[in-house]
Amino acid sequence: MVQREWVEKDFYKELGVSSDASDSEIKSVARKLMAENHPDRNPNDPKAEERYKAVGEAKDVLLDKAKRKEYDETRRLFANGGGRRFNGGGGGGNFGGFGGEGVEFNLGDLFDAAPQTGGANIGDLFGGLFGRGAQQPRPSRPRRGNDLETETELSFLEATKGVAMPLRLTSPAPCTNCHGSGARPGTSPKVCPNCNGAGVVNRNQGAFGFSEPCTECRGTGSIIEEPCEECGGKGATTRTRTINVRIPPGVEDGQRIRLAGQGEAGLRGAPSGDLFVTVHVRPDKVFGRTGDDLTVTVPVSFHELALGTTLSVPTLEGKVGVRVPKGTSDGRILRVRGRGVPKRAGGHGDLLVTVKVAVPPNVEGEAAEALEAYAKAERASGFDPRAGWNGA
Ligand SMILES: [Zn+2]
Ligand SMILES: [Zn+2]
Repeated sequence: MVQREWVEKDFYKELGVSSDASDSEIKSVARKLMAENHPDRNPNDPKAEERYKAVGEAKDVLLDKAKRKEYDETRRLFANGGGRRFNGGGGGGNFGGFGGEGVEFNLGDLFDAAPQTGGANIGDLFGGLFGRGAQQPRPSRPRRGNDLETETELSFLEATKGVAMPLRLTSPAPCTNCHGSGARPGTSPKVCPNCNGAGVVNRNQGAFGFSEPCTECRGTGSIIEEPCEECGGKGATTRTRTINVRIPPGVEDGQRIRLAGQGEAGLRGAPSGDLFVTVHVRPDKVFGRTGDDLTVTVPVSFHELALGTTLSVPTLEGKVGVRVPKGTSDGRILRVRGRGVPKRAGGHGDLLVTVKVAVPPNVEGEAAEALEAYAKAERASGFDPRAGWNGA
């Protein structure tokens, strides 16, 4: 399985150099390694011979500007997964030599079939690989549905208390006219003659072959001669559906909430994607919000603050009596524990009540007389509102 090792091994790793190593560095490292493993110095040592050849091949590729470029591109293709999966059909073994995550290349039979000369050409291998993939129907794994994004506007109370609501979603769905094929009903898409349905074509250059998306079919592998009139050949149309969602209590303006499993349906029984809803909250006339605390400003009379009183203050759930102690100053914030916004972790924030004196625009008659009398009494009591005030 020389070829297999050869492909799995990274040429850079083979030489022990970094992927941006200079030509002179590669040259000197390769010379040293080849000298060490030279058959003349290691008679009857197949390991050394193998190493000698591998280093030689790595050096040949990496010192050829064009080949090295293609090799790097190939590595990138594999590292990115290429978005495709090929099953060789026979043999075992996943091909993960280029560190491709989530890509499964089952190459067992290809490698088994490759000539065991030790001088295999990487172009043959990749050519065989992609060619082989082209001949087979592309198996697709059950795939989780796509996540969807949407936004909605909520009233302040809906956002703080949570709400169940219908949400209109617009998302691509398979065209019902052509059942997603994109071809006019009664016709079917043709296998692309340029790539034989693989969606990729192979280019062989020197020792290398690599694949690129087919330009004829734009990577789809098929050509639609008579497009479906509903979707214009795309196979998908925009569908609007209405789903019922539950917005949890306590969401804030601008928040993006995730509703698990409410996204697009998965294919072949795979789980649905998630739905992300960005929430816009309309401000409320009475309530405000600071984190989990609910804020409210209550207009009061001077005498209520001076003499003390109990105010009836609205909350998210009915009203609450808030005691204002005598001698409370204007603008003071009174805290009512646990009557604020529901918290995600359970419980509630606090209700913060700000008292704000409202002054009657016209004080007349009895009230005016009483106030005159009060003013006199206040002076007599020695109260000076500006005592200790810096502006005096
Ligand atoms: Zn259609
Ligand atoms: Zn094609």
